[in-house]
Amino acid sequence: MKNKLISIVLPLHNEEGNINELYQRLIRTLNTEKKYDFEIIFVNDGSIDSSLKLVKDLSLRDNRVKYISLSRNFGHQAALTAGLTYAKGDAIIMIDADLQHPPELITELITCWEDGYQVVYTVRDETKDISFFKKITANIFYRLINLVSQVKIDPNSSDFRLIDSKICDIIRQNPERERFYRGLIPWIGFRQKSIRFCADSRFSGKTSYTLSKMLRFAISGILSFSFVPLLVIIGLSIFLAIASIIYILFVFYQKFISGQAIPGQASVLIAILIIGSVQLLAISITAIYSYKTYHEAKRRPIYIVDETKGFNDEPKS
Ligand code: UDP
Ligand code: MG
Repeated sequence: MKNKLISIVLPLHNEEGNINELYQRLIRTLNTEKKYDFEIIFVNDGSIDSSLKLVKDLSLRDNRVKYISLSRNFGHQAALTAGLTYAKGDAIIMIDADLQHPPELITELITCWEDGYQVVYTVRDETKDISFFKKITANIFYRLINLVSQVKIDPNSSDFRLIDSKICDIIRQNPERERFYRGLIPWIGFRQKSIRFCADSRFSGKTSYTLSKMLRFAISGILSFSFVPLLVIIGLSIFLAIASIIYILFVFYQKFISGQAIPGQASVLIAILIIGSVQLLAISITAIYSYKTYHEAKRRPIYIVDETKGFNDEPKS
């Protein structure tokens, strides 16, 4: 009988210093898993260093190594989507290529899958050498998203996870352009289990998540899974409307009953400023939602493939 196949999906953006070490550690772990066959899918997401060349070299030495090279940098989540589209495994493991996610943990992910869990995701107990700023902002992000979103996301959950092919099929059929897998996967449901781990510091190179990428990632996550920001606007509008009525009644009272109208324009100015800024905020939030709708409506591809190696037939769709 043929062994079951497990796909390992590795998104790569300028990871030349990590690829060989990652491959060695990965192979050491995979060699202990005698019951399974593996395909190792590198997704080159617009690297401008020698990452693609290193992956090509590996694919010449080891026919389990396959790759998809994208036409430019489409982002981490899009690179994962490309990997999931091509993966043929009975289970698919997504893991970062910078060795922050220890490949040795794959054994535990597989054991949980064998126990019947369709999703085994990992949660970082601690991240070595994480900056104070990243720690605080990540903390705020997870609190905020859990406060407003319909799905519950484990704080500090990572993009290191195993999913059964059944979950992968559901993801492939999801027409959504903008993917936020840390929300999408808990949203799908089925039997899910978490494993805690300590994330290492990067083996080599530096993070591709600049402040602006982090911010876009956070906004995308919140807007994909929550309409609460729109409720906040409605709440603010109702509050302002009530406050305005009370204030107007008060002004009428002063003018016509007590005869002590307030001189000057300060109160008018304050009212204009408050209402003006709330209106701007409301317009901005609704504008972001309509931009997201526009973005989805265009139905452009999530990623564009330049070249691939190791896939005999069309990707699963
Ligand atoms: N990555 C990617 N495209 C990007 C940014 C990152 O494919 O535009 C990959 C990167 O090579 C790594 C993973 O996604 O394998 C996580 O990225 P990174 O380590 O920079 O993020 P951090 O761990 O700092 O959140
Ligand atoms: Mg990293």
